[in-house]
Amino acid sequence: MPENSEEARSEQDVAIDDAELIGLFAGHGIDRDSAAHFRGRLERRLVIHRCDDCAHWHHPPRPMCPACWSWNITPTEVSGRGTIHLLMTLHQGVPAPGVDYAAGHPVLTVELDEQSALRFTATATPDFPADQLEIGTRVELDWIDRDGTPTPAFRIGTGA
Ligand SMILES: [Zn+2]
Repeated sequence: MPENSEEARSEQDVAIDDAELIGLFAGHGIDRDSAAHFRGRLERRLVIHRCDDCAHWHHPPRPMCPACWSWNITPTEVSGRGTIHLLMTLHQGVPAPGVDYAAGHPVLTVELDEQSALRFTATATPDFPADQLEIGTRVELDWIDRDGTPTPAFRIGTGA
């Protein structure tokens, strides 16, 4: 990992060390590339890797830009606005706090406004209108608390 990525990350770090971060998000497989994303979550900011050289966004976080192969990556906050691209409802799965599989747990892959094909997957807020939970619906990022950490969730969007 080049030095400049470390410098970029330091601007967004909250005051916890890597061990604490990994403990807070146990099971997420946090590594050097994804640490900034998860530190962003602690501040309720959706942070996604962006290339300094060609401005291409990519997620999940990798150390190199997949468009131009640059190592100059800056974790950058996105607006959280987008459109439901893919939608599924889970009726079974690994037990998780706040997840009710009996009622059907929605999982949304949202194409973010920042870039075509830049997608982020999360659940819906509990108050999401069931009749608007469909592909093409405009959504905005919100946050729910899960197991003591802020977790991204999408709410119904306001306007285009
Ligand atoms: Zn690039």
